[in-house]
Amino acid sequence: MAERVIPLIDQRTAALQARVPAAPVPATGQLRDRLDRPLRDLRISVTDRCNFRCSYCMPKEVFNKDYPYLPHSELLTFEEITRLARQFVAHGVHKIRLTGGEPLLRKNIEVLIEQLAQLRTVEGQPVELALTTNGSLLARKAAALKQAGLHRVTVSLDGLDDAVFRSMNDVDFPVAEVLRGIDAAQAAGLGPIKVNMVVKRGTNEHEIVPMARHFRGTGVVLRYIEYMDVGATNGWRMDEVLPSAQVVQRLHPIFPLRALEPSAPGETAERWAYEDGAGEVGVISSVTQAFCGSCNRARLSTEGRLYLCLFAEQGHDLRALLRGDASDEELASAIGHIWHGRADRYSQLRSQLPPDAGTGRKRVEMSYIGG
Ligand code: SAM
Repeated sequence: MAERVIPLIDQRTAALQARVPAAPVPATGQLRDRLDRPLRDLRISVTDRCNFRCSYCMPKEVFNKDYPYLPHSELLTFEEITRLARQFVAHGVHKIRLTGGEPLLRKNIEVLIEQLAQLRTVEGQPVELALTTNGSLLARKAAALKQAGLHRVTVSLDGLDDAVFRSMNDVDFPVAEVLRGIDAAQAAGLGPIKVNMVVKRGTNEHEIVPMARHFRGTGVVLRYIEYMDVGATNGWRMDEVLPSAQVVQRLHPIFPLRALEPSAPGETAERWAYEDGAGEVGVISSVTQAFCGSCNRARLSTEGRLYLCLFAEQGHDLRALLRGDASDEELASAIGHIWHGRADRYSQLRSQLPPDAGTGRKRVEMSYIGG
């Protein structure tokens, strides 16, 4: 087996300066990038901390007690997040997803949700508010999140076998507690709930069928995610990726499936319905089938950097503008200018390279810009 090299470089230090362009870019809701992609979806990372240590995301060897997490003064405040989010919405964002790190670790997250719930799209509708969580604190918080105005949750769960799950989260956290969180979210009305399972060949692939069996017919939509080469610390290797096509091949003989149309433009998951009417499952093939062409997502890091791609090496520092007295119009103009210049399509380009060719690149961690 090839030796894994885990670089210990902190890529957060390199930021691009966001600037207010000389020619204003007014927020009309019609923003397009250089490849004619609109801006529809904003993911906001509210913390770079997590209580899990999944080896594919925040491996213990790197994210230990000496890891330089961002100090509180560096994080955007809730007011700053909401002010920035308002400019993104004016440019056409319809959906905001809170993520991290583990977003439920951010103190008083309900207050932020209340503020974001006031935002209206260019058509005057409430912005769709979702949150991705490891589920560990969900049983306790689901009702308060719903009351604050959250619409939906996505819960990450990599298997039902307790030993496998405890070893993947690497903090010995039990499956039962995450399932309790999912039940609480369903009871609170935070549905339709999605469950994301990262599939690693040789680690949890035998959980593909049991997970489908468990969630079929419950209204919960299970989605299998290909293990991605995000960040620089997880020692990613192509031979640990189980292509989504194989996930579907394994499910189909047991639970016959039929392909469904995407439910929204730019949707990351390919949808499949159970032929017997027990609901649907999805596969997210970020490695084997790049979907850059329809990517309408922007990502805001915990300390206010705008990333145009999950695989970006650098973000644009919006916090400097926020804390430097820029007006709302100037903030919107800066965001518009950055989106106008966007031409990222990392996944597509990678698919033209030999396997593992991108592993030496300096990419930011998923825990920092959010999944
Ligand atoms: N803590 C929250 C959670 O666990 O859902 C939100 C942040 S987490 C970074 C978001 C999602 O990214 C999770 O579903 C996680 O499994 C997924 N993820 C992290 N690293 C990944 C990788 N290398 N490949 C594929 N998915 C990954």
